[in-house]
Amino acid sequence: MKLLKSKYANIINNKWINSNSTFQVKNPLTNETLSIVSSCTKTQLKEAIKSSQNAFLKWKKLSIKKRSTYLINLFNLIKENTEDLAEIIVLEQGKPISEAIAEINYANAFITSAVNAGLQLKGEILYSHFENKQGHVYNEPYGVIGCITPWNFPAAMITRKIAPALITGNTVILKPSELTPLTALALGELAIKAGFPVGILNIVCGDALKISDMILAHNDIKKISFTGSTKTGKSLLDRSSTTITKLSLELGGHAPFIVFDDADIELAITAAIQSKFRNCGQTCICANRFYIQDNIYPAFIELLHTKIKELNLGNGLDNKTHLGPLINQNAIKKIEDQINDALEKGATLICGGKKYNHKKFPNAHFFEPTILTNCTATMKVFTEETFGPICAIKQFKTESGIINEANNSIYGLAAYAFTTNLKRTFNLSKELNYSIIGINDGTPSHTEIPFGGFNQSGMGKEGGSYALAEYTQQKYVSL
Ligand code: ADP
Repeated sequence: MKLLKSKYANIINNKWINSNSTFQVKNPLTNETLSIVSSCTKTQLKEAIKSSQNAFLKWKKLSIKKRSTYLINLFNLIKENTEDLAEIIVLEQGKPISEAIAEINYANAFITSAVNAGLQLKGEILYSHFENKQGHVYNEPYGVIGCITPWNFPAAMITRKIAPALITGNTVILKPSELTPLTALALGELAIKAGFPVGILNIVCGDALKISDMILAHNDIKKISFTGSTKTGKSLLDRSSTTITKLSLELGGHAPFIVFDDADIELAITAAIQSKFRNCGQTCICANRFYIQDNIYPAFIELLHTKIKELNLGNGLDNKTHLGPLINQNAIKKIEDQINDALEKGATLICGGKKYNHKKFPNAHFFEPTILTNCTATMKVFTEETFGPICAIKQFKTESGIINEANNSIYGLAAYAFTTNLKRTFNLSKELNYSIIGINDGTPSHTEIPFGGFNQSGMGKEGGSYALAEYTQQKYVSL
């Protein structure tokens, strides 16, 4: 392991900047400290913003082609260090190594995607209403963008923001999750090696509220791109009102997973396992509510139970592991609360339902894969995002009824449906009020799609050419 260090500082002006105040990053498998990280002080954050603003004045003048060379250097270094980076993800986040390697490849694909889209960026000439005038529309960068990222994808959620932000001429202050800053800082170290000009990417760690308050209040930060909980997204919206700092918000989800009785059950089960148990259920597009049509309800549950028994819980670095530990004790508490609530309101526990005590890793936050049946709309498992390995299941009768029920949510990110009926497929595509719909597909996401939720799941889109719109603003010049 070349990149992991026992002590980390913030990265400002391409230098490691220490402070007296520090925090610990723990391994969720052992609960031991992996590394100590400096918290960014107010003075350091001011310096970081100043450096990003100075860098912006030069960076925006470079051609997109020139900017792309730096991003491609970073891409190559990430590729060379894939295993090392993936191991850091496993150590600080807990996911299985195969998923961590897939995440690094996915993270890197956001860089090529942004470069490809960036090189196609165009302006427009508008024919004027007046014979002696002509109008030009420019797609201009905003300036310094604050990027706040979560712990569930410690690499991919970063490149998904910084690559399109940088290619379009913005500079970035990145605040990674305090639970997983090590991957971010390792990426920052590679960015320095890639020759990134001073100040185009500064990385600040520490107290999220204090840092975000300062970022929101500062006139040089023109936009914040945030991925995290709906609760924090709402807080950012409230706090951005005084400065009208622009926001892109990628927030929580509560995906319905609907299986009709004409579906290919084997396919639906494979997709259910992928969607529900990837990253131990800790993704915003995870299946959250399972709706199974009455004729196949018992068969679906039996098959799901059989497949769940094959899942191994363990050390993410072990190739046989399917499910790593959850991120921390709070995640366990939230799931226990949802299960207790469901059982009190009449749900049936088919398997799991409790913390798993691993003999070798007694301090790990493992949770047994769980099936709850007879769930109803009033239960927390059917209204709150779970972020854990729980399959909460309800039986349904009709297509129109289930579409209404699936749409009855404050969220609007992902939805899944399984059917072999073509007419139904078109109807579901039109009627499900979700921004990402997997029809006979449990893993609909990739780098080029317009990723971003309806309703309280967010505002704005990330991914491919869609991300360019988030990081540019239109300027009109009349000549
Ligand atoms: P999660 O519940 O998935 O951890 P959070 O919204 O708490 O989601 O965290 C996502 C990111 O937001 C992290 O980088 C975290 O440090 C940051 N964060 C947490 N609280 C706030 C806040 N009040 N304002 C701004 N950012 C915050």
